[in-house]
Amino acid sequence: MKPIAIAGAGLAGLALGNALQRAGVPTTLHEAHTLPRHRVCGEFICGRGAEALAQLGLSEALEGARLHRTIQWSRLGQPVLDSTLPEPALGLSRYLLDFRLAESFRAAGGQLVENSRAAPHAQAGHILCHGRQASPSDWIGLKCHALDLGTHADLELHLGTEGYLGLSAIEHGRVNICALFKSRPELKARKSELLFSYLHACGLRALAGRIQASQIEPESHVGVAGIQFCASPAKPDAGLRLGDAYSVIPPFTGNGMSIALESAAIACPLILNYCNETLDWEQTVHRIQVQLHKRFHRRLRNASWIHPWLHHPHRQRALSRIARLHLLPFQTLYKLTH
Ligand SMILES: Cc1cc2nc3c(=O)[nH]c(=O)nc-3n(C[C@H](O)[C@H](O)[C@H](O)COP(=O)(O)OP(=O)(O)OC[C@H]3O[C@@H](n4cnc5c(N)ncnc54)[C@H](O)[C@@H]3O)c2cc1C
Repeated sequence: MKPIAIAGAGLAGLALGNALQRAGVPTTLHEAHTLPRHRVCGEFICGRGAEALAQLGLSEALEGARLHRTIQWSRLGQPVLDSTLPEPALGLSRYLLDFRLAESFRAAGGQLVENSRAAPHAQAGHILCHGRQASPSDWIGLKCHALDLGTHADLELHLGTEGYLGLSAIEHGRVNICALFKSRPELKARKSELLFSYLHACGLRALAGRIQASQIEPESHVGVAGIQFCASPAKPDAGLRLGDAYSVIPPFTGNGMSIALESAAIACPLILNYCNETLDWEQTVHRIQVQLHKRFHRRLRNASWIHPWLHHPHRQRALSRIARLHLLPFQTLYKLTH
């Protein structure tokens, strides 16, 4: 079997690494940082993510995940929509999910090299799962976990001026608090206070108070800047890219993790053919890229059209009016982005 090297031990890299190593391919995973760690993510897994993990033989990684069925939207504190999800979703922290996948990769004999930044070069047997690359965008993401924070639905989505925040239950009674905001450089605060400064600036004071009254786990505070969404997938000659390294879907869809897992499931059988020497690298990359495009281009395009309606004040207002009149085709919009 030819060996495989993967750059990036996020969801795409870990899922693919596990499946390849278990199939007998000597696999090395290079991770720029250490694992596990808290990541900026709503930790809401919907769409085909669980199915992709099952396809890769990794369903046990989702044990104990919270099942989500209901969703409640509000705008500036006023209710907009109460609905059920077209299909149940799952809530599980990335900390636990990454930990489990890293452990099972090691247990299968895979080599996980932490603090190892791989060059993002296109070369045979080298797979790029290095996530989204920092870009000059004006979005920032913030996340933390709270205990004792009651929610009104499995997923609460709060729209504010130029930003939105989700509350979603994860394992062990915790709630994931994750927000995306247009950057406001005038807001300066410590990491633990920044979320509240943004919520106040976005017109979500009552929500800030509700979160502040809960027990936040200090080590779970993380933030990230420079997020760009739905950039065209990298050019074919830029190497084999999976997950966010392929393209980044806006967070409101809760579908980025699924895309990472699905892309690993799509790539795995073809990479095995390469390792068995029944396919050369160029053909392998080409076939995978064709399948990635077929599976994801509609989702990425629809999500990029819908995203401005969730943060731009005029469009938010229009969307909220339509939803309050029960005219928003929520289930259809959901299906268009999953
Ligand atoms: C605010 C926000 C909220 C979100 N909420 C959700 C949600 O609720 N549900 C959902 O499904 N998705 C959500 N997402 C998206 C989701 O987090 C990503 O789509 C998912 O993590 C992508 O997985 P990945 O494996 O492609 O990349 P990542 O998980 O980002 O992993 C990439 C890894 O590569 C490492 N790396 C980077 N460069 C190198 C290098 N050169 N060499 C070696 N290692 C490298 C990084 O350290 C990282 O560990 C959200 C994103 C944001 C920003």
